[in-house]
Amino acid sequence: MSTESFMTASDVPLLDHHCHGVTTADLDRAAFESLITESDWDAPDGTTHFDSQVGFAIRRHCAPVLGLEPFATPEEYLRRRSELGGAEASRRLLRATGISDYFIETGYRGDEILDPDEMADAADARAFEVVRLERLAEELVIGGCDAAGFRAAYDGLLEERLRGAVGVKSIAAYRIGLDFAAERPSAREVDDAVANWLDRIAQGDPVRLDAPVIIRHLLWAAVDRACAIQFHIGYGDADVDLHRCSPLLLTEFLRLTRESGARVMLLHCYPFHREAGYLAQVFPHVYFDVGLAINYTGSRSDEIIAETLELAPFHKILFSSDAFGAAELYHLGALLFRRGLQRALDVFAERDGWPASERSRVTELIAWRNARRAYRLDEESA
Ligand SMILES: [Zn+2]
Repeated sequence: MSTESFMTASDVPLLDHHCHGVTTADLDRAAFESLITESDWDAPDGTTHFDSQVGFAIRRHCAPVLGLEPFATPEEYLRRRSELGGAEASRRLLRATGISDYFIETGYRGDEILDPDEMADAADARAFEVVRLERLAEELVIGGCDAAGFRAAYDGLLEERLRGAVGVKSIAAYRIGLDFAAERPSAREVDDAVANWLDRIAQGDPVRLDAPVIIRHLLWAAVDRACAIQFHIGYGDADVDLHRCSPLLLTEFLRLTRESGARVMLLHCYPFHREAGYLAQVFPHVYFDVGLAINYTGSRSDEIIAETLELAPFHKILFSSDAFGAAELYHLGALLFRRGLQRALDVFAERDGWPASERSRVTELIAWRNARRAYRLDEESA
């Protein structure tokens, strides 16, 4: 068949522009179940997190990778996983994803998961670091930085960390909501806010940055360096106020940063992915993905992926798994994404005759070319 010479979503390499490290620990049932939900709590007595789209997807698609029949029971699955050991099970699941590049955010529970170099080994792929802005500020404070020295110290630390990273990430959505004031805060405002933060810590508060002025300062420092800035958007764990996570709340920030050279990557976005698609159309520096939502919508993920192909230009859509911890999530992120993209493009071919060559070109844009351009990787390496 002539179409076979074109790359399709099932064989294209993927660049996962937002994920975290995997754990290679041997996981007991409670630990495993905690990694396949965004809830912070155990499933209610007598129920299991396996009874969900992601749980069914693991049994359907991951069980065969570990040598089991599709729809092995959760008990059989976890028994097989521990027979193999966490490291070997993870290696098998990761290496079957076809992900060639992982952009790994290192600011969350970093001591429990593999770092980028270890991920590259386990997955037999390339790995790059993405730095979490709020974590950098917290590291400075933990290291004893005072209010007067904060801005200069932060500049220095950000510069240093950016030398080894492809971009930065902000969890403003979690800490202050996305309805923050868009404009750059003054130096005086920042100094006062840091002094206030340090006072609260001295009185026993945890070192958890949730001061809007300081977070805005961190964002603008990244804008000044023309970074690729990832924002958590929409769906996440129970720590998030979802009604304050619509990407539309960033509209003024996007207007103010349009000419800056910074690029804004809207992560996950569900259930606001149509809003994100709108922003990606109207703002030249906005990109987005529906990672995380793909895994957790399982058999319904085809529809979510098709919806990302409504308003957004094809050169603005990215792939991510947003996997954390369990290797199953990278595996499913890739598998379900490939399937959803393929099916969406097949429908367009059926309805409007999209040629195989054009479907292939769009596939490659979304699978990896857009991310390489948006993160400016092509400028550094041949
Ligand atoms: Zn994430």
